[in-house]
Amino acid sequence: MPGGGAASRTAIRLMSPIVVVGASAAGTSAVEELVALGHEGRVVLLGAEPHPPYSRPALSKQFLAGDARAVSLPDLPAGVEFRPGTTATAVDLRRRTVTFRDTTGATASLRYAGLVVATGCRPRRILPPAFGALTVRTIEDATALASALRPDIQVVVVGAGFLGLELATAAVRHGAAVTVIDREPPLRRLLGQEISALVSRRLAEAGATFVLEPGGIAEDQDAARGFRLRSGRRLPADLLIEAVGDEPAAEWLRGSGIPLHTNGSVLSDRSGRVGEHVVAAGDVRMSTSRTPYWSAAIADGRRAARTLLGMPAPAPAPGYFWTEVFGLSVRVLGALPVRGGLRVIDGDLDSAAAVVAWTGATAAINHPIPLRRLRRALDDRAEETSHV
Ligand SMILES: Cc1cc2nc3c(=O)[nH]c(=O)nc-3n(C[C@H](O)[C@H](O)[C@H](O)COP(=O)(O)OP(=O)(O)OC[C@H]3O[C@@H](n4cnc5c(N)ncnc54)[C@H](O)[C@@H]3O)c2cc1C
Repeated sequence: MPGGGAASRTAIRLMSPIVVVGASAAGTSAVEELVALGHEGRVVLLGAEPHPPYSRPALSKQFLAGDARAVSLPDLPAGVEFRPGTTATAVDLRRRTVTFRDTTGATASLRYAGLVVATGCRPRRILPPAFGALTVRTIEDATALASALRPDIQVVVVGAGFLGLELATAAVRHGAAVTVIDREPPLRRLLGQEISALVSRRLAEAGATFVLEPGGIAEDQDAARGFRLRSGRRLPADLLIEAVGDEPAAEWLRGSGIPLHTNGSVLSDRSGRVGEHVVAAGDVRMSTSRTPYWSAAIADGRRAARTLLGMPAPAPAPGYFWTEVFGLSVRVLGALPVRGGLRVIDGDLDSAAAVVAWTGATAAINHPIPLRRLRRALDDRAEETSHV
């Protein structure tokens, strides 16, 4: 800080806002926590998207099923200065400024007392743009996909993770002929063999086709000659959908001195602290591993806000993840990917209604068990394994 001394540092703290960059799960929970903790200074929330925050998980579920209202989130707390359509382009750690651009292209800088980096992820793309493959990260993406899905078209979904399967479910529901391809069976990496087998069965019963392609898709794709797998097989597609993971949206921090992992994530400690007056939260950050899930991003935003205010972070709660694929509701409490063997606690997997447990995670598959009882099952399981 030029001419910095204790007095001017205090002035910055009192007059400059806390700037939160990224207006989604992590960013909004950070501002909510700052307000809830009684932070008296200004809070400015910069969001690249042109609208208020919305529920991203609902995009690939209720929104594509026709329920647009399901994406609504509660209003931001009063007093938060929200600037939609504002993209942060650089940070100067020494001067403590964030530079940003608005939708007219005009740029400006803002001095911050504290900075929360919560810029999330963008979809990883592996197909050449000439294929016109669609994916879903934003409400605009979901709107484009909703209008492209029609009965009787051939849809190929690349990627059989949660998102790929949810988008395939939506395509089937619209009457399309759907093929899903992946290098591994559906959800096997995250939920293990038994749940993967159950999902595969449901996928087939829904009329979709799964193609296991251990080599993945060909690298030298040529849109004019059609979409090819590495095995040489061509799949006809009126519509290609890509759901092959995501990449941290942190390129705007390159060269700023903020530490970035080789995978592009912002590196922080467990409390979200990145450096002096800077914290990170949500999908964009990692400490020892990444947890790119909605409830993790919310917990992370709260933790980062507390860290910024010098308050102790709460003990981490188990992660929570849910999905709905081919009529299967899957709610998982604990760490993903699951570890160890699967044990059925209630119901049975053959009838596709069960509560199951692994080491460090429990799940309800089409089972109405309330979350607090799923949590108890997780705690009981932890107790058992600690006595083994
Ligand atoms: C379709 C879909 C379905 C999902 N379903 C589930 C689910 O069922 N369960 C679950 O747990 N998780 C789900 N997820 C994952 C979950 O949505 C993410 O983990 C969560 O959104 C992460 O929140 P975040 O705030 O860290 O980042 P994001 O939600 O990615 O938000 C980051 C925000 O920052 C903005 N931004 C980026 N760069 C800048 C910049 N330079 N300046 C200003 N703003 C910027 C972006 O525009 C974006 O609005 C789903 C994700 C998708 C895409």
